[in-house]
Amino acid sequence: MSTEIVKEIVCPQCGETQKYRLLAGINSQENPELKEQILQETLFDWRCDRCNYFAAMVYPFLYTDPQKRLVVSVTPTGTDSTVEPTAAIAPFTKRQVKNLAELKEKILIFDAGLDDAAVELVKDALCAIIRNSYQVNRLHAYFSRLNPETEEIEFAIFLPRREEPVYHATRMDVYKQSQEVLRTLDYHDPDGFATVDAKLARRIINEYQNS
Ligand SMILES: [Zn+2]
Repeated sequence: MSTEIVKEIVCPQCGETQKYRLLAGINSQENPELKEQILQETLFDWRCDRCNYFAAMVYPFLYTDPQKRLVVSVTPTGTDSTVEPTAAIAPFTKRQVKNLAELKEKILIFDAGLDDAAVELVKDALCAIIRNSYQVNRLHAYFSRLNPETEEIEFAIFLPRREEPVYHATRMDVYKQSQEVLRTLDYHDPDGFATVDAKLARRIINEYQNS
């Protein structure tokens, strides 16, 4: 069930008080339109009825996809998530992310039938190449899609001072090698809501190189 709480929000620009529908939980099967809003990254958008002031809201919520057996706890930095895995979601894959962009990436990865830990390893390799070729230190890469024609994995790369991402593709072989690395290390998800991100990928690669 998609659960919601209605809150009063005071517009920071004009002071008008308005009702805001805060979502505590989203079920993708029951509310595909909300899933769509996540994929469009508009779920948290808020616009003042009176002065048109625009803001992107930030608050914790739980995303559940019963079909993919996936539960993602969205816990923005500085907020507290008190989610405890219930019996109903115990066998599900459980992930923790910080924002809507990361949630969107998880949804796309699981919808494509891929393993997110292996995708993070692929991303780590790709980011090393991109840092080198663009001469940048900081960048953000997000899984974009699995191209059915070329069988390549496409990533959206956000470079410093550029609003629009650049897209780069990686061969499926790199993904298969990453799966092999995980198998060699006998990698299993940690208990509870696991953070499967670039940091985890680094730890796995270090462990693999030292083994
Ligand atoms: Zn306003």
